[in-house]
Amino acid sequence: MNENWTLLKLLRWTTGFFRDKGIDNPRLDAELLIAEVLGLDRVGIYLNYDRPVIATELATIKPLIKRRGQREPLQYLLGRTEFWSLDFKVTPAVLIPRADTEILVEEALKKAADLGELLDIGTGSGAVALSFASEKVNWKVTALDISVAALEVAAENTRDHALDDRCQCVLGDLVQLPEKAFDLVVSNPPYISETEYPELMPEVRDHEPEQALLARENGLDCYRKIAAQAQKILKPGGWLLLEIGYQQQQAVEELLDDAGLTEIYCRQDYASNPRVVAGRRSA
Ligand code: GLN
Repeated sequence: MNENWTLLKLLRWTTGFFRDKGIDNPRLDAELLIAEVLGLDRVGIYLNYDRPVIATELATIKPLIKRRGQREPLQYLLGRTEFWSLDFKVTPAVLIPRADTEILVEEALKKAADLGELLDIGTGSGAVALSFASEKVNWKVTALDISVAALEVAAENTRDHALDDRCQCVLGDLVQLPEKAFDLVVSNPPYISETEYPELMPEVRDHEPEQALLARENGLDCYRKIAAQAQKILKPGGWLLLEIGYQQQQAVEELLDDAGLTEIYCRQDYASNPRVVAGRRSA
């Protein structure tokens, strides 16, 4: 990579390089990365095809193109991602929030009265907890995670969205959940089984935190632990909402049933996969 680069030439070169590396949306990723470094938006790219790319810009973008080629997720390279139309900081300490997980926020909002308290178990970047808090001014939200590094990201996102008054980031794990009861408990816990894990895309398997993905007992370990404490952490009439993997609906519904929860149902995502299992503590 040297001499006389224009934006269009760089875009074509990068797209081809990403395609050779097996990246899903090579052109889109090339556009987003170049736009970031050149301080343009995506429309700006189309309007500036002939713009020369100077040596210092090339020096900045080259290592990023290389890292993306090694299948580092674009979101980690940019340091942020969008979820619930909000901008979230992400680092390799947290799972990158997925669009499918917005279903969990939608279901939680449907269950939420004007006032209440929500617990998010395994908050990661804080995406679920903060999206919910952004919609519900009178709720108190507790965002729990076992990872100090993840909580730092969640705390920064809390500050960035000025939600400190509503959302508290707390260190804790599944075996010592807070000694109090909530109106709503939500979680997108690790649920990938040992057999599924090696088959994940390189972006996920090699770069996202294993701690946020992999779960023992065929991916069900966290659900079992949460279900075991459901009666304790839910107020009477309170709802538990859990994101699940596409093959886990029956097993998780059974766990909630065994835990004595009622009104159990599953909500599909927009790709028609089972995505959120919900159950309620009797009033
Ligand atoms: N949905 C994520 C994936 O497919 C997994 C998230 C999780 O384990 N909680 O990579």
